[in-house]
Amino acid sequence: MDMQNTVKGAGKISGIALHTGARASVRILPAPENTGILFRRIDMPGAPEVKAVVENVVDVRRATTIASRTTGAFVVLVEHIMSALHALHIDNAVVEIDGPEPPIADGSANSYVEMILSAGIQEQSAPAEYWKATAPIVFEEGSVMLALLPADDLRISFTVEYGISPLDMQFFSCTVTPDSFRKELALARTFCPYRELEQVIAAGLAKGGSLDNAIILHDGALISNDGLRYSNELVRHKIMDMVGDLFLVGKRVHGHIMSIKSGHPTHVRLAQAMSAQEKAKNN
Ligand SMILES: [Zn+2]
Repeated sequence: MDMQNTVKGAGKISGIALHTGARASVRILPAPENTGILFRRIDMPGAPEVKAVVENVVDVRRATTIASRTTGAFVVLVEHIMSALHALHIDNAVVEIDGPEPPIADGSANSYVEMILSAGIQEQSAPAEYWKATAPIVFEEGSVMLALLPADDLRISFTVEYGISPLDMQFFSCTVTPDSFRKELALARTFCPYRELEQVIAAGLAKGGSLDNAIILHDGALISNDGLRYSNELVRHKIMDMVGDLFLVGKRVHGHIMSIKSGHPTHVRLAQAMSAQEKAKNN
């Protein structure tokens, strides 16, 4: 039987945050069985916590932001940490952060994978819990299509298309395991179409954005500091983001998700539908 996991010791990373542009440090700490993932804002009086569950999502523009209605604590861009935790099967942890947003690092989830592995993985005494589909979930929203079918593992098949260059029509499908995540998804960096940069900056976002942590799509080209890490790096990053957003159901997810052009708003809508299915099953 699979058991729940937490981290053995503490891991830490520091750096610039993408949207707020502030320097921040994140530490990951062990937590008891059935805690789930708690973010703790140690820069706020009383170090308030917010649980990483879909009920606490308050913003999905450009990143997934969670907030606690009781403590007032909020954290911007949780998806890369959540993705690494989900993929490495860390069910319980406290993520301490000394600001509103974790470091973006190189724009990928790799630093968070390394943070968790350096802390070590500790098996616990309660069985792991899985979200499993009792029925398919399918919906369309504008040009986005999402379908989730029952499966005995987590498989994601994703298509992106931004209409800027032939390079940005990408498809990738993979079964997410700790191994495949590290090899196929963890290194994929965040990106932004150049035409959207102006509105992103006008909205006060991406203050810490640069070619050190993002790929820019412009005029038929992909602009990055050191070439591409995968020929289809964009779609792999989208899958990595989705692995993080899905973990907001509060359990490891089993299902085959097929996506055409989804993003945080529709990922969170899917997670809400998944949570609703779980509640209906338990009633
Ligand atoms: Zn991302």
